[in-house]
Amino acid sequence: MATSTQDPLSFSRLVALDDKRPTYPQSLVELAYEQLLSMLVTMKIAPGGHISIEALARQLEISQTPIREALTLLEAQKLAYKIPNVGFRAAELLTRQEVHDLFELRLLIEPAAAAFAAEKANDEALRALETLAEEMSRQQTGNELAYAQFAEGDARLHQLVTAASGNRFIAETVEGLHVHLHIFRFLFRTNATAKAVQEHEAIVSALLARDPAGAEQAMRNHLLASRGRMTLALDEQERLAGANLSPEGGGRPRRGRARKR
Ligand SMILES: [Zn+2]
Repeated sequence: MATSTQDPLSFSRLVALDDKRPTYPQSLVELAYEQLLSMLVTMKIAPGGHISIEALARQLEISQTPIREALTLLEAQKLAYKIPNVGFRAAELLTRQEVHDLFELRLLIEPAAAAFAAEKANDEALRALETLAEEMSRQQTGNELAYAQFAEGDARLHQLVTAASGNRFIAETVEGLHVHLHIFRFLFRTNATAKAVQEHEAIVSALLARDPAGAEQAMRNHLLASRGRMTLALDEQERLAGANLSPEGGGRPRRGRARKR
């Protein structure tokens, strides 16, 4: 019950979500979860910011109980945390070191998963990957919704590859990192890139050719390039924050963005 973390996330729905209660049927926990998730990934609630259960209960016209349940789910996804006697706060964004470490772990697991998938994927999984890569190559870029659509496809593609590895524990480990949720939140205001689409196509081509070494290499290349793009985005965010906040600028290493306290 509640919202399954196994379902691929619809980032485009989260970006488009307004503050009103949607008309489609949903359990109250799902309603609260989706609304909070939307506010957290689009930073309507700032990183480190207080999450007001009372305000959300009033806004959604529901009791506080489903909101507290939703917050427990979000806590498990490391998007919110509880301070005893104070309440819930939004998690900080990933730091530079955390981005590095997250990709280091992905680089250990996902290239191997791609190699296994090249050997073990069934035809249905390969067709799904092929269709998804084609769809992603036709997507537009340039605004928040486009980036959300890209992030959604990206999450789905990596999930399909790890599932096709045939190793349930690999799939669950990658799933449990909630990689795309955190990357999306981090990059939400940036652009999807045509390069990532090409890198995905290279992975899918190697899988279709049932080429384990090629799939492994293509996945490694893609993750290294992704990490490089995230580092550039982080540099840019720090440059902007530095321009806004500190006239002295300076080469002092900063931890993540300016922290709200
Ligand atoms: Zn990707």
